[in-house]
Amino acid sequence: MTSSMKAVVKTGPEYGAELKEIPVPDPASGQVLVKIQRTSICGSDLHIYKWNKWAENNVNPPQIMGHEMAGEVVALGEGVTSVEVGDFVSAETHIPCGQCYQCKTGLQHICVNMKILGVHTDGVFADYAVIEEVDVWKNDPAISARYASIQEPLGNAIDTIRAGEVAAKNVLITGAGPAGLLAIPVANAFGAATVIVTEPNDYRRDLAEKMGADFVINPLEEDLEALVAEVTDGVGVDFVAEMSGAAAAIKQGLKQITPGGRIALLGVPDGPVEIDLAPDLIFKGIDMIGVTGREMFQTWFIARRLLKEEKIDIEPVITHEFPLEDFAKGMELMESGNCGKIVLKP
Ligand code: NAD
Ligand code: ZN
Repeated sequence: MTSSMKAVVKTGPEYGAELKEIPVPDPASGQVLVKIQRTSICGSDLHIYKWNKWAENNVNPPQIMGHEMAGEVVALGEGVTSVEVGDFVSAETHIPCGQCYQCKTGLQHICVNMKILGVHTDGVFADYAVIEEVDVWKNDPAISARYASIQEPLGNAIDTIRAGEVAAKNVLITGAGPAGLLAIPVANAFGAATVIVTEPNDYRRDLAEKMGADFVINPLEEDLEALVAEVTDGVGVDFVAEMSGAAAAIKQGLKQITPGGRIALLGVPDGPVEIDLAPDLIFKGIDMIGVTGREMFQTWFIARRLLKEEKIDIEPVITHEFPLEDFAKGMELMESGNCGKIVLKP
């Protein structure tokens, strides 16, 4: 194995990142070293790249960027027993403390001392990356590295759709970014009767159709209420998966839910959102569910089954694949919104 590697490093508290040649890290006790085969760009990587307020508060440069990946284990740190050299793996990106109330009660995905791979630690936009043993997920060899690298965001979509118990229900997905796009085939695989998607961006509305949505509309220009009335015989949707973080979408989604229905919120608004609670939530008896990351490791088992048994087709969501060196091109595309998932190959 070589002693140096290329890595996309966030070098300082400002816009951008640099491709650098740096030493290959050694896995410490309880860690494994993975040779990265594919990695993909997440919205939070773009936040770190652009250096917004959230990044400022969470990231401590210099640090290697990235967290979504698939690769092969090439070395084990001391005491690692559950993984072997040669295993084809991906990484859960929550690094739980294992000791807090949540961790001790089966809720490690909402650990109060949570660290995130590539946010609070060195990440995976590199030839090699160090992963905590607790986060290593052994992939089925039947799944390609390209697909395996986006299982982490697929898990977000699975967790959100799972919250809706969508079998034979009418579902509205607000926002067709990568998360919303992945939620479409998941909702279909879980047996949703109809899937309606709202998305202002033309490119992404087109992708939503390719991903298998039944109805796709621009909520800023078309009449969602009329469409929902028509599709649901005037009843309203049973479930809203909020995947945009836009205040307007949260409010619009709530209005389309039939009384007794449910909304799960994955999208992260950039500030407080004003909701008219009495008419839109309380008197409609609506369940509102916050979704954070993915349940460990339920969502990974579900992702494996859906991918392995080809119950979902996620090919259309991967709109671009670049060499790692072209990460800046990927970031630009992400910023434009005219893309789905962007996969990088070291
Ligand atoms: P994204 O920003 O790429 O996608 C959001 C989409 O919503 C965009 O395509 C945008 O055009 C669309 N949109 C904007 N206004 C809208 C409106 N009024 N109605 C409908 N759609 C609208 O983000 P993503 O990577 O797909 O992730 C989706 C959201 O989920 C983001 O807010 C992200 O921060 C959040 N997220 C949360 C978690 C979590 O743990 N809760 C995990 C991953 C992502
Ligand atoms: Zn904890």
